[in-house]
Amino acid sequence: MVLYTPGSTTSYDDSSIDGDSLRYHFLGGGEEVGNVGCILEDATGTRIQIDYGFVPSNPPRYPDEGPAVDDAILTHSHIDHVGLAPWLVASHGTTLHCTKLVADLLEMIWRDTYKVSSIEGQPLPWDKRDLEEALDHLVVHPFDEWVETGAWRWRFLRAGHIPGAAMVEIETPSRRILWSGDFDTRDSPCVKGAIPIKADTLFMESTYGGREQPEREVEVERFIERVVEVVERGGTCLVPAFANGRGQDILLMLWRSELDLDVHYDGMGKKIMEHFLSNGEFIADAAALAKVKRWCRRVSSKSDRKKALDADVIVTTSGMLDGGPAHWYLNRLRHDQRNAILLTGYQAEGSGGRMLQEDNRMLIFGKMVDINLEIDQFSFSNHADHPLLVSFAQEVSADDTILFHGDRNDAQPALSTALSELGMRVHMPENGHSYLLS
Ligand SMILES: [Zn+2]
Repeated sequence: MVLYTPGSTTSYDDSSIDGDSLRYHFLGGGEEVGNVGCILEDATGTRIQIDYGFVPSNPPRYPDEGPAVDDAILTHSHIDHVGLAPWLVASHGTTLHCTKLVADLLEMIWRDTYKVSSIEGQPLPWDKRDLEEALDHLVVHPFDEWVETGAWRWRFLRAGHIPGAAMVEIETPSRRILWSGDFDTRDSPCVKGAIPIKADTLFMESTYGGREQPEREVEVERFIERVVEVVERGGTCLVPAFANGRGQDILLMLWRSELDLDVHYDGMGKKIMEHFLSNGEFIADAAALAKVKRWCRRVSSKSDRKKALDADVIVTTSGMLDGGPAHWYLNRLRHDQRNAILLTGYQAEGSGGRMLQEDNRMLIFGKMVDINLEIDQFSFSNHADHPLLVSFAQEVSADDTILFHGDRNDAQPALSTALSELGMRVHMPENGHSYLLS
């Protein structure tokens, strides 16, 4: 891992900037998914950092160290966007700007990050004291309200993706910038989609460049049909789902099916659902989510967990079967072939879910076990896919479009080609380099 010594390892170009130019420098996340951190600066000396996360792989992947910065904007509460933010506060006294729901979730997410890193023996560049300090440096802003930072003003706009997630519109004296964050223009069960605005410079995530997702309603229908099939043969569906957004989306889909299902919900997502409900303005239909909370059985004890083994559906973490209650359930459900595993998204290389898909076996509690259950995979991602990314960029109609948060080998070249063919000027920056846009 990178051992950070504030101010000594950054490759940021600190020289003065002329005229109307904008300098941008990805500390991470320029040519990869996650690990995001980017510095923006212009001739006025105004400097803002956007996001500072890491990839929680084993070992974790960290972005570079950046220059000192007074203000950082956190777009949403995923660890690959916020995991290193406490380091900024500890090292530079940085003020962290975010939406209210993100602020409410950060304490839980940072504490969990700290716990996991201790269990796995992976050092973090921040400690518990830094975490407390970071909580004191959070400043929350509602959507659409302008905030002044140096010579710039900026505001949060709805990004879709997960509740509380924001895009950032920035006005400098010479240009309007749109930072997409992780976004989706489609409505999801939990959140309304992002709406593009016109800008001179667009920084756009590109996770799904070159790939199309199935129509959401069709995929939901396929999922519900599979659940019915498993339940009718007397089995239980184990549905591994991320705690932050995906789990609640799945519960809403199951509830809206109006089927008579016995659904149990386990893992960190339960607490996150509480935060969603106490920040109802960020939820597309908070009243429905409140009903869902009462409708599902929330697992909160060992005996609840045993009871859940007889459920129709168990929704739980982790989403890629890398731990969490899902392992406990799988270890028991694997003995009855009427049961099934319904994966709710992409399973990353090296994850438990990927191993299960490829080899029908998985490491559970330190032991390699065979799992001969039916496995199905559904695509419930809340990122805009290729056609949506292209139409979003067309609507923004920027002079310069900078792609980030996407695979450099396939997603970004595919998207870049499509945008270039439409006459757009596209940039694919490398991490650790300072670029000037004139
Ligand atoms: Zn995200």
